Amino acid sequence: MAQSPYATLNPPRRILMGPGPSDTHPRVLAALGAPTVGHLDPYFLQVMTETQVMLRQLFRTKNELTLAVSGTGSAGMEACVVNLIEPGDKMVVCVNGVFGGRMADVAGRAGAQVTVVEQPFGETFPPEQIAEVVALVKPKVVGIVHAETSTGARQSLEEISKIVHDAGALLLVDAVTSLGGIPVEVDGWELDAVYSGTQKCLSCPPGLAPVTFGPRAIAAIEKRKTKVASWYLDMTMVRNYWGQDRAYHHTAPINMNYGLREALVLVLEEGLEQRWARHQKNHLALKAGLKALGLNYAVPEGKQLPMLNAVLIPAGVDDAKVRGMLLNEFGIEIGGGLGPMKGKTWRIGLMGETSSPRNVLVLLAALERCLTSQGAKVTPGAGVAAANAAYAG
Ligand SMILES: *Cc1c(COP(=O)(O)O)cnc(C)c1O
Repeated sequence: MAQSPYATLNPPRRILMGPGPSDTHPRVLAALGAPTVGHLDPYFLQVMTETQVMLRQLFRTKNELTLAVSGTGSAGMEACVVNLIEPGDKMVVCVNGVFGGRMADVAGRAGAQVTVVEQPFGETFPPEQIAEVVALVKPKVVGIVHAETSTGARQSLEEISKIVHDAGALLLVDAVTSLGGIPVEVDGWELDAVYSGTQKCLSCPPGLAPVTFGPRAIAAIEKRKTKVASWYLDMTMVRNYWGQDRAYHHTAPINMNYGLREALVLVLEEGLEQRWARHQKNHLALKAGLKALGLNYAVPEGKQLPMLNAVLIPAGVDDAKVRGMLLNEFGIEIGGGLGPMKGKTWRIGLMGETSSPRNVLVLLAALERCLTSQGAKVTPGAGVAAANAAYAG
């Protein structure tokens, strides 16, 4: 046998504190390596059924059409849009960050007549603004991002949902970063179509997109006059594979689904409420520590996401050098700014497995070193001390 010129795969061990992917639990990695079975094997069909039951618990919904789309979070976005939209349909998309912008792009490609409503990056949408635009446009669908990972802003949805439904429209929600980290109440808030991703607060590697469609969304899909523009993401066919019929559509990524199943078991073992509380507790400790290091949040108080902490880079500090030092000397990944925030913010993720006191304290200690090496004035130990005080209090 010829000697391979390639070394055995041996990725570095990182602490993933960026905007995703997040750290994975060893049980999820082990599940990914379990023996592959066929996509119609009774064992796999049971895995699918169990995954659906657990996804409904996470989404807090009774929606029958709840499943994992084969593809990353963006595939979930595309799946929702192409199934709800027919060419010429009106869609309002709320854009206050990169992912709202992506949804508007996807909607336009699907043939929607798109109306974009905007807020500055870091801000959120007041219900009155949505009320005004739906009254004017009379859209079929309103799309909005629950947790804008590009800015760290948290959008409240309950009032907007009422407004959208009173106007006879459907509410499509991006819950890629929120699911598993903060409450996502699909039935309680009457969200019509929601998509998420495995790689953020579910702490499974990127590769699947949990989605759920409520009764209004299904009625809209069943009333379509045209075929769904994407064959791969057509829910009228995919649902026959995940539903009673188990009809072959595409070969499900078997081992990715094992990984998601195990990640969902871990979420439910912890308990959803406990998981939300853990994300909040570690966020508050990190926030106290960052403040003590002289770093300010880019999002106003009260609108900050616990799993994505966007802070302003202090004047005179080199963005790339600090992120490079964190990665190379400490094995810690954090994210840079996106879009207009490029070079202005760091995005520090505390998602799923990553959200722990250990990681908060290590990051604050390492960041102190990086800031000091950049000539920033930092009181030695202040970040770690403030975070410890937050944990103690
Ligand atoms: C990460 C993310 C996406 C895209 O998910 P991918 O897994 O990168 O395809 C979409 N929306 C939001 C809010 C995200 O954070």
